[in-house]
Amino acid sequence: MMEIRDLLAEDGRRNLAVIHPDNSLREAARIMNSHKIGSLVVCSEQRKIVGIISERDLLRAIPGFDKGLFEKRVSEVMTRSVITCSPDENVVEILSLMRKNVIRHIPVLDSGELVGIVSIRELTGAYELLQVEANTDVLTGLSNRRSLLRVLESELGRANRFGHPLSVAMIDVDHFKHINDTFGHQAGDKVLCALAKFLVQELRGIDKVGRLGGEEFIAIFPETDIRGAELVCDRLLDTIRATKVDLGVAKVSFTVSIGLTEVNAARKGPLGILKRADELMYEAKVRGRNRVQVDARQVLDLTQQFKAQG
Ligand code: GH3
Ligand code: MG
Ligand code: MG
Repeated sequence: MMEIRDLLAEDGRRNLAVIHPDNSLREAARIMNSHKIGSLVVCSEQRKIVGIISERDLLRAIPGFDKGLFEKRVSEVMTRSVITCSPDENVVEILSLMRKNVIRHIPVLDSGELVGIVSIRELTGAYELLQVEANTDVLTGLSNRRSLLRVLESELGRANRFGHPLSVAMIDVDHFKHINDTFGHQAGDKVLCALAKFLVQELRGIDKVGRLGGEEFIAIFPETDIRGAELVCDRLLDTIRATKVDLGVAKVSFTVSIGLTEVNAARKGPLGILKRADELMYEAKVRGRNRVQVDARQVLDLTQQFKAQG
């Protein structure tokens, strides 16, 4: 959760300037210019906030242009209804409040004292950052479970709509506990990051890859039938077998087991597909690890199709 305070920490006070309502627009423009800011808080003698004046307000005044435009008083063009917020309020909530009220700047008051002003642009930037963070796995920088499920859902929708193939692989590090136990948790983390890098390198641009959690990763192959995806998985297994991860104290090799399934007309939801891929991954473990287990049901379907086509 991000608070308004987090935005102020960087440039709250620097971006804050006030002006008296009786001052001229010329003075307002001068202050905005010299502070390189887009808005001023308008305060009366009692330091009471009475409005906000922004570059937009200045622009809006231009159509009624007369010679004395810049001699007009701030109070004539400022926005009077001032919604304020406090530093401990939630960025997302304030953003929606500003959108609802169509306001572009909001003064921040801490126990009645003006401590900053934030623009909708700053809030939108912070919100986008939050969105990225919410969808990213901190350790590897790949998509996290939440994001993967959403991607899988939308890819599923597309595959079903257009009748296109879609394959999904669950990838799990073999004997990962052993790596942790032998070299430590940090070494384990390094292996996970190395695996993340291989996945990004080996998969094509349209494939989606992420970390489901722990030492489990998911690869989503749009427009790809199970045979095509199997080739990619085989290549990935080869790369991983041939590589040693430098842990400082030692270079270690590791392997993974993969469960690979293709989405078919049964139209299982994202969770159903992950479950199937997980079952197949478990089968790969039972059969000796360091391999890909391809969904036999799917292969059966394909064989039947070939037979039917004659
Ligand atoms: P298998 O070949 O059957 O998959 O055995 P495994 O040891 O890989 O599987 P198991 O599920 O027994 O152990 C997984 C381990 O992964 C246990 C857990 O402590 C560790 N782990 C989970 N998340 C992380 C992480 O983020 N970093 C590190 N270093 N270890 C993690
Ligand atoms: Mg596991
Ligand atoms: Mg494992």
